[in-house]
Amino acid sequence: KPLNSAEVRQMFLDFFKEKGHSVEPSRSLVPQDDPTLLWINSGVATLKKYFDGRVIPDNPRIANAQKSIRTNDIENVGFTARHHTFFEMLGNFSIGDYFKEEAIKWAWEFLTSKDWVGFDPEKLSVTVHPEDEEAFAIWRDQVGMPVERIIRIEENFWDIGEGPSGPNTEIFYDRGEKYGNDPKDPELYPGGENERYLEIWNLVFSQFNHNPDDTYTPLPKKNIDTGMGLERILSVIQDTPTNFETDLFMPIIKQTEEVSGEKYGSSKEKDTAFKVVADHVRTVAFAIGDGALPSNEGRGYVLRRLLRRAVRFAKELNINEPFMYRLVDQVAEIMNDFYIEVDDKKDFIKNVIKTEEERFHETLQEGLAILEKVMKQEKDKGSQTFPGHEVFTLYDTYGFPKELTEEYIQAEGFTIDEAGFEAEMKKQRDRAREARQKVDSMQVQSEVLQNIHHESEFVGYDQLNVESNIEV
Ligand code: ATP
Ligand code: MG
Ligand code: MG
Ligand code: MG
Repeated sequence: KPLNSAEVRQMFLDFFKEKGHSVEPSRSLVPQDDPTLLWINSGVATLKKYFDGRVIPDNPRIANAQKSIRTNDIENVGFTARHHTFFEMLGNFSIGDYFKEEAIKWAWEFLTSKDWVGFDPEKLSVTVHPEDEEAFAIWRDQVGMPVERIIRIEENFWDIGEGPSGPNTEIFYDRGEKYGNDPKDPELYPGGENERYLEIWNLVFSQFNHNPDDTYTPLPKKNIDTGMGLERILSVIQDTPTNFETDLFMPIIKQTEEVSGEKYGSSKEKDTAFKVVADHVRTVAFAIGDGALPSNEGRGYVLRRLLRRAVRFAKELNINEPFMYRLVDQVAEIMNDFYIEVDDKKDFIKNVIKTEEERFHETLQEGLAILEKVMKQEKDKGSQTFPGHEVFTLYDTYGFPKELTEEYIQAEGFTIDEAGFEAEMKKQRDRAREARQKVDSMQVQSEVLQNIHHESEFVGYDQLNVESNIEV
């Protein structure tokens, strides 16, 4: 019987404990003291304080299983086997301690040793940076990887601007010909955009400092930062076609079958809907558990967008009423031996989701009707452009995040008039600023007046938060 998700997570942490690592707990998805990040998006994101030297860890060897949110992958979710908006990253880290040799050898041992995961070594291949001869040699000479399976790829360089940077090496699992066998497919190689060679683990060797003048100098203390997706390695261990048939998702999918009366596996479109729903409910439940709430800006906007995207896909399953909140029990139960937060705040999370679903349903039908009407009007004019002010109306009045409108109309070959939409957003921001200035001057006045009569009533806070930041 293959290992389950809890066992794999624990096995990873145990392995690195055995190699002298201290295990750090999974931290909040909402970054603490880090204004540069909207969400914690990797294991290393919570350990920055060690990597940039602000804090010296008691033990330079650290391992964790860190919940992560990535919105850049949202369009892949439901369509690829391997992408989620919420996933867990398993990582081992060295803060100026061990370097390439140990990082590579331990990753290999964990994946191939019969005492641990026990993958067939023949199924694994790796990519390295073309100039990283050191990593290439370690794979070839110390691991014994045949050179045909060590692929040099230019993109294997981890660089986020100023700060530590360096080459990386990634490990891929060959899931076999049934996931791709066309020899003419230019993407069919480890690191290409394909479903056969599954990227499971990224080992980053941060050995340079990216200086303000864009030169690179060797770091005196070199670091290791690795990340492996739990859902991905689990899909290989459990031999499932995608991450979604593993025990991390199946109970949610089962519950969605129950709610909808539809069957998972009956069509490609329906399966995509099941997957989107299962993915997004995890993200939203965990994010709310960590203190985020749906709103029109920042993190809240991401949640709103995810929930509404899920509702849209659920129409494919003939679900036309609030239901996402009914999946939170499953999320809590699947995760509660490692993450207690969703279980702890289950009722609150359900309430927030249900309320948000209800709000969207109130305007959904009208919004959809407008969408159809506008597309028809434009088509009749021979246009395939969706006017910006209509995108704005859908956003502002009907609660359709711009990206949601975009996804709908893309299916019909439409594109958004971006400039027109931006212009409307700017107008709205200007209106908000004006309102705020008025409020500010009122506030000054009322401060003066306060001493005279205390009961001067102030209305206007509702208008204060309209300024939108829709970047994710
Ligand atoms: P991909 O190329 O498949 O999009 P990536 O190269 O963007 O992955 P990394 O930034 O290297 O991913 O992250 C380290 C590891 O985390 C990956 O090797 C993968 O196992 C996992 N991972 C990354 N993004 C996702 C995601 N959106 N969903 C699930 N797992 C992910
Ligand atoms: Mg990616
Ligand atoms: Mg990649
Ligand atoms: Mg990668």
